[in-house]
Amino acid sequence: MVQTQLISRDIIDKEVLRAMGKVPRHSFLPVELWDRAYDDAPVPIGEGQTISQPYIVAYMIQALSLKREDKILEVGTGSGYQTAVLAEILEKIYTTEIRPELARKAMTRLNELGYGDKVKIRIANGGLGNEDEAPFNGIIVTAATFDIPRQLVEQLAEEGKIIIPVGSAEQQILIRATKIKGKLIEEKLLSCIFVPLVRKECDKN
Ligand code: SAH
Repeated sequence: MVQTQLISRDIIDKEVLRAMGKVPRHSFLPVELWDRAYDDAPVPIGEGQTISQPYIVAYMIQALSLKREDKILEVGTGSGYQTAVLAEILEKIYTTEIRPELARKAMTRLNELGYGDKVKIRIANGGLGNEDEAPFNGIIVTAATFDIPRQLVEQLAEEGKIIIPVGSAEQQILIRATKIKGKLIEEKLLSCIFVPLVRKECDKN
């Protein structure tokens, strides 16, 4: 997977490649989907959600140019796979998941794989960020939205970066926005398709 899907494209960050090579992706899927775990594609994880394609996980993390001590918020824990890759690189990772059952399963897996001490998970609407722990050097959003939630921008540190898919339900552009003097400077990275970010408790499905 690392050679054929990541190095052969444009993933060059050594820490990202090391982490992607180390985290067992199949462990985040039910046994009946293990044969699809290392496919060059997203895979369903239940409740209509998906674990992102390996390339997209690596690409989003590379786009943050992480340092070990950075304080990073992930919005959309899902299976916990990307959380584990982030935990390989960082001292600590803050993550939020709005669907309690997915969050509980993710935490169980992360504990079993030894990442439990590094992961601070919250069952909450991550579109509101995590005010108690802000500011963050980086925010990585794994669900799509029509605009960048105001709270996430507010909780970004100066020179912090947010990676977020922005667009309609069917098609989005992955944006990297850097906060410079309080304002966001946006770069368009690639087109992508993510499940939608829940903006209110009541539109979960
Ligand atoms: N990074 C995940 C991919 C998860 S898919 C992985 O590696 O498996 C996106 C996730 O975002 C889903 O689990 C979905 O429940 C969650 N999500 C959607 N809206 C959310 C919100 N407002 N706050 C937190 N999580 C949200």
